Order: sequence, then structure tokens, then C-alpha cells
Amino acid sequence: EESTGSTLLAGLDPAQREAAAAGGGPLLIIAGPGTGKTRTLTHRIAHLLTEQGVPARQCLAITFTRRAAKEMTDRLHGLVGRESAALTVTTFHSFGLSIVREQHWRFGLSADFGVADAERQLEILAEALGDGRAARRMLPDISRARRDGEADDAEVAKAMESYLRRLREADLADFDDLVALPVAALESDPELAAVYRDRYRWISVDEYQDIDAVQYRLLRMLAPPEANLTVIGDPDQAIYRFRGSDVGFFLRFHADYPSARVVHLTRNYRSGAHILTAAMRAVEPTTLVADRVLVPADRRAEAVKIGVHEASNEHAEAGFITRTIDQLLGGSSFHSLDTERASAEATEGIGFSDIAVLYRTSAQARPIVDALTRADYPFQRHSHDRLIDRAGVREILDEFGYASPASKAPDVRAGLQRAAEIVLNRAPHAGQEGRAAELYSAVELLTPLAVECGSNVERFRHELLLGAEVDALDPRAERISLLTLHAAKGLEFPVVFLAGCEEGLLPLRWPGTELDDAELAEERRLFFVGMTRAQRLLFVTGARERTWQGQQRDCKPSSFLQALDSSVSERVGAEDNRRTPRSRQLTLI
Ligand code: ATP
Ligand code: MG
Repeated sequence: EESTGSTLLAGLDPAQREAAAAGGGPLLIIAGPGTGKTRTLTHRIAHLLTEQGVPARQCLAITFTRRAAKEMTDRLHGLVGRESAALTVTTFHSFGLSIVREQHWRFGLSADFGVADAERQLEILAEALGDGRAARRMLPDISRARRDGEADDAEVAKAMESYLRRLREADLADFDDLVALPVAALESDPELAAVYRDRYRWISVDEYQDIDAVQYRLLRMLAPPEANLTVIGDPDQAIYRFRGSDVGFFLRFHADYPSARVVHLTRNYRSGAHILTAAMRAVEPTTLVADRVLVPADRRAEAVKIGVHEASNEHAEAGFITRTIDQLLGGSSFHSLDTERASAEATEGIGFSDIAVLYRTSAQARPIVDALTRADYPFQRHSHDRLIDRAGVREILDEFGYASPASKAPDVRAGLQRAAEIVLNRAPHAGQEGRAAELYSAVELLTPLAVECGSNVERFRHELLLGAEVDALDPRAERISLLTLHAAKGLEFPVVFLAGCEEGLLPLRWPGTELDDAELAEERRLFFVGMTRAQRLLFVTGARERTWQGQQRDCKPSSFLQALDSSVSERVGAEDNRRTPRSRQLTLI
């Protein structure tokens, strides 16, 4: 449709190209997993810069995680070079923090205010209420009320007021403040809103299906109905309801931006055909996308069916995963899949970094970690929780904060090492092995970030304060990735194990509670997100018996597995597998 930018857009299909080359005004890109939404968005920004003369400093791109922001920045650097440095590619919270920084005096904060982590929030609320237990109970309510923009409970409203007063007295903002304060400022001061609108004339949001009410209000302040706003997402991948995300904002985009152009992407470039068929079937009962079209762009891995394995218990499940990884790495023909099907292509050249094990709850990682450790396989493990709330991280950061200016540590990594040593030496030794292990694991987690930050201490502090554990994921590390399903959003791996596919675990249902329809639909979407992370090989595993929350329980296969009939899947890895792993003696089952 146009000749300019032809090389830039050469790697896109016609629908992607239409979206990437579209001019100003509101634009909605709605498409399923692996259709190149994120890739299209990146190319669109590059196209705006190089072909449409948009100054980089006017572009604001909002992503869901700092990891995603970093990846987009790197890709844009590859596409447009130095100009990419002037772009603002960020998350809602980091962006909000930059506004709070600029406008700190409006909020009763000094220029170098701090950001409270969960522990500090609890301390402050406990002081406000004079009751630690009540604080623990009420903090989530306060957080929810602030995200929803209202407290309908008088007790919560009162506690919130006193909590916020004390927070400000301590010169602190909390995580919710980072978006809530800018919203309050922009909504009450039209001139200020105009300043920011003028600054960011081109805005885009990836993973728009997971926006929450406060983020939505911030966006509405920045992008009035005719604005140059591009939003991208997939309602069937909305999985953050428990944090206040509301897919309703995606579904009403057209009502909010009536002149919006809509582009559907239909070709999936990620997964083999069976994986795709099964995933579509799995989400179908509660899909939020009418008449979805999603076809595999590449028939390469078409013949490989999904491997389904039911183990006797969680240790046997971990054993199956480890054994299968061993076979994959050995490059041996796939014992469990019929060799013809498991074409050499599908297993060719698989390394640790190509493999992910996904699960619903962090607790499930335990037996898998044990099995991989025994096999001496390297792995990295990340959840979607905030980095600063992980055991040991705050202490290290506190130490880091005080130690680094005085020592003028040559780089962040050295500073981290030093801070960790001090914290470790401080911990009393007797009976503290667990504690030391926690600290080591925290240091290991933080090291890739530290390396990435070079000598930029300020950036490292931000990563720790605002990041999720998964932001520390190093996609290039030669390690197996162990991830919660939430943390796996937006990512892809040649080989995926989706573990713990049992009633009660996926769908997750705490003992003694029932799921309502909306909750069950969300669990189904999580299953869909998990399956669609796989490129070449997908294994879906579960156990017949599992110790969970300190109790041994009998488990039934997940009802979601009904989507995996014999046309798309096959049973693999019978438990009496006689084959011993190629090079290592494992303790299995
Ligand atoms: P998700 O919903 O999981 O976030 P997505 O729609 O954002 O997925 P991307 O991650 O952008 O999808 O792309 C999926 C994969 O397909 C990537 O490896 C990407 O490089 C590849 N891809 C996308 N478009 C094309 C294309 N036109 N040609 C070749 N590969 C493509
Ligand atoms: Mg994406």
C-alpha cells in the first residue's frame, strides 16, 4: 500500500504491515497469542520514527513488565539505532514514578522520597491501627480500594486515611501511589494534564487486556478520544484479575475511542498446529473473542503432538520432566513419542535456554528444583511477585543503599556482592542455614540485573523497587526457566512443560472454597496462556497424588485436559520406563 519503509516492514505479513504503517488516531490491535502483536508494535514505533517523522521523545510505549520494556528497547535499537535512546519505553509504575518525581511537592514528598515495600507498608499500617494482625488483614483491602478508586467500607476508608498520612510523614510513596498520585494530579489540574499530553503525543500499550482501573484513568488523561493511541492485546489472555486488572477496559475500547481503527492478526508464528488447535479448544468454552481466527503460519512442527503424562505423585512428575529433558538434550530420538512424529527437527539443537517448566503456584517448584538439582541441570526460577518482596532482597538493598555511595563501588555487581557479604556475616550462624540459602538465592537472582545495570546504581535501585522477579529473567542464560504461569506471559520457548494439570491446582481452588464462573474462566485463560508459550514441543503433566499445603491428597486430572483428545495429544513416558538417562544416574520415582 506504500513503498516507503519497505525494508523495515519486509518482515511483516499484510495485516501486521497495515497496523505498523497506520497513521495517527486510535488503533486497536486484537489478536491471539504468537500472532506477532509485540513484534508489530515494535515495528510500528520504528516506522513512526523513520518514515512518519515522529520525534522519538514524543513516543511513550507502555509494557507490562520491565523485562518486556527492556526487550522492546533492545529491538528498537536494532531497528532505528541511536534515535531509540530518546523513546520512553516503560511500565505504568515506572512511568508513574517519573511523574511523582517531577511533581513531588504536590504530594507532600521531598525530592528524594522513598518507595515503601510490602514490609514497610505493613509496619506503617500497624502503627496507624495500633494492631499488627488487623494491619495484615486490611492492607490488601486498602490496596484494592485504591486501585478501584473507591473504598466502600467505612473501616477501610478510615484506616486508609491514617495510613496515607503516616506514609507521607515518613516521606514515602507506596506501589499503588505510583499510579494513583499522577492520576489525582492530572485529573485535578487540566494545565498539568495538557503538559503531559503535549509531551507524549504517540502512546502505545501492550497487553492492554490486563490494565486496571487506575492505569486506565491515567491513560484516559493522557490520551483523549482522538489521540494517537495504539493498544494491543488478547482478551483471552487476561490473567491478572486478582491484582485488579479488568478485561472490560479492553472490550470497551471502541466505545471510548469511537474513531478507532481495528486490526486483527490471524497467523500464529509461534506454535505447532496441534498445540494451537488444542489451545483454542481449551479456551473456547469461555472465550471473550467472537469468531477468533488463528492459523499456524508454519507447518514445520505440525506432526508433533502434545505429550500428556500422568505421574503417580509430584516427585515422579518431576522425574518425568528431568528424564525427558535429558533425552531432549541428548538429541536422542524421542523414546516416548513415536520417532517418526518427533521429527528430528523438533528436538534438534535444544539447549537449556530453550526449555521452560510452567506451573500455577510457586510451591510446585520444590520437587522440580530438587530433581533438576540432583541431575545437575542449571535453572533460573521466577515468579510474578515483586522482587523487593522476595526474602532477603530488601535487606540487601538496604545495605546496598548505604554502602555503595561511601565505598564508590566500581560497579553495581561489586556493590551487590559487598552488600550481600555484609548481610550474610550479620546473620547469626546457628540454625540459619535456611536463611543463608535465601540470601544466596536472592543474590543469584539479582546478579544478572546488576550486570545489566553496569555502574548505574540508580537504575539498579529502581529495578529492585519496581521490578517483578521475572524481570530478572535472563533469556540468553543457558538455564532451564522455571516460571509461574503469570510470569510466563508474553514469553515463548521451543519446549514447554506445563506441570500440575490437576483439578484444584489448575484450575486452582483452595481447599474448602468454590470457584465462581469468572474465576474458573480466568483459570482457563491461564491454561491457554501456558499452552501457547510452546513453540515446538509441549508436555502437559500431572500427578495422581500430591502433597499440597502439608496434606497428601488424591488428585484428578484437570477438566481442562478435555481439550486434549487423541487427535492433538498422546500419552508419553509410561512410568515403567526402562531406559536410564544417557549420561547421569538419576534417582527417579
Ligand atoms: P503473545 O500474545 O504471547 O504476547 P504476540 O502476539 O505478542 O504473542 P510475538 O511475541 O510478537 O507475538 O511473536 C511471536 C513469535 O512470532 C515471535 O518469535 C516473532 O518473532 C514471530 N513472528 C511474528 N510475526 C512474524 C512474521 N511476520 N514472520 C516471522 N516471524 C514472526
Ligand atoms: Mg506479546
